[in-house]
Amino acid sequence: MFCVKCGVDGETFKGRCMDCFLEGRKLLLLPSFVDMDRCTGCDDFYVDKKWRTAAPDVAAEDAAIASLKAIAEARITSVGAQTRAQDDKNYLVKIDADLEIDGHDVTAETETVVRLKNTVCHRCSRQLGNYYEAILQLRGSGKDMEKDVRDAMMNRVLDKVEAAAVNNRQMFISRVEEIHGGLDFYMSSMSLSKSTARDLSHEFGAIVKESSTLVGKKEGEDMYRLTHLVRLPPYKLGDVVEHQGRPYHLVQINKQGGKLLSLNDFLITSIRPMEMHSIKVLGTDNDIADAVVVARYENEIQVLNPFTYATVTLRVPEGYTSEETVRVFSLEGELLLIP
Ligand SMILES: [Zn+2]
Ligand SMILES: [Zn+2]
Repeated sequence: MFCVKCGVDGETFKGRCMDCFLEGRKLLLLPSFVDMDRCTGCDDFYVDKKWRTAAPDVAAEDAAIASLKAIAEARITSVGAQTRAQDDKNYLVKIDADLEIDGHDVTAETETVVRLKNTVCHRCSRQLGNYYEAILQLRGSGKDMEKDVRDAMMNRVLDKVEAAAVNNRQMFISRVEEIHGGLDFYMSSMSLSKSTARDLSHEFGAIVKESSTLVGKKEGEDMYRLTHLVRLPPYKLGDVVEHQGRPYHLVQINKQGGKLLSLNDFLITSIRPMEMHSIKVLGTDNDIADAVVVARYENEIQVLNPFTYATVTLRVPEGYTSEETVRVFSLEGELLLIP
């Protein structure tokens, strides 16, 4: 075949040799200006139909590449870019691309200016408008929450929401209110509120109650708002408790319930969540005291009762080796070893 333009004999593409086909032809198509939205609330950028967190020059580069096309005869095989800020709203992006046309490898260059446009993303506009679908309420057991427990639970909630927001921008907390000695989280999503409540229940042995309120109609459908009340149980890990009339040390709380160490025979009992509700708190960590060991025997030790200073003999678990002091709890005058 002959090239219709220069007459050279050989392979032709659309009637021309590749040199003649490429001559003066723009292979890359890119507008002179590419507009890119930036949210004034969260500083995220809208690139390639998605909101994303990125440095402005990286976002600008991606926005330019997302707008890049090649002529129909060519296929882009790889793209490189260099970005330079002209000012804080305009970024010059130079692009080098490798293309393939009819089996030939060709390179081409182009450039554009990416212009930043201020706007507010959907999430921020909802957040600013205090949008919420559910309220997650953290409450103590009949009294104000202890500060350290409250802080631990709050951090857990914030971590859960942050993790969920990585994959879904619509997951957020609109506001947090301190109320009735507890906390109210206004959550953007019902499912987020539910899964967070369930997590707190597992982690802190809390009891969750879900309720819904009709708040109106939208397009003819009833609209509900959920409330997840997460109430801490009266007991906490490390408490001395009564279960079926006997004293135990609460040594584990988990989703299957909990584990109790008998302070009579030192055996471990597992109890289910339902049974957990019936345990009674006899004392907390603050009520457990140190007692000086004065003598050690095979299955017993003698200690000085820290409350009465009398010498008391205590049974010890098998294989138990005591330090100079041991932890004890006084139950109605009877001293119990907390091994
Ligand atoms: Zn030619
Ligand atoms: Zn935003």
